[in-house]
Amino acid sequence: MTCPHCQSTVTKERSQKTTPGYRTFRCLCCQRVFNERSRTPFNFLEYPTDIVLLVVFWRLR
Ligand SMILES: [Zn+2]
Repeated sequence: MTCPHCQSTVTKERSQKTTPGYRTFRCLCCQRVFNERSRTPFNFLEYPTDIVLLVVFWRLR
């Protein structure tokens, strides 16, 4: 997992997950914590990414 803050690939997965259940990571380079969806266009959504993509797919059909 690449750090969205410093682009380092030296990261460690944490045991805690975010409220929606995303895996969280700590960057060993800048010591910041991020999750799978940090800095993505989906981060502001309250629904899981796969559900959002399904709805978008259905709308486009
Ligand atoms: Zn970093």
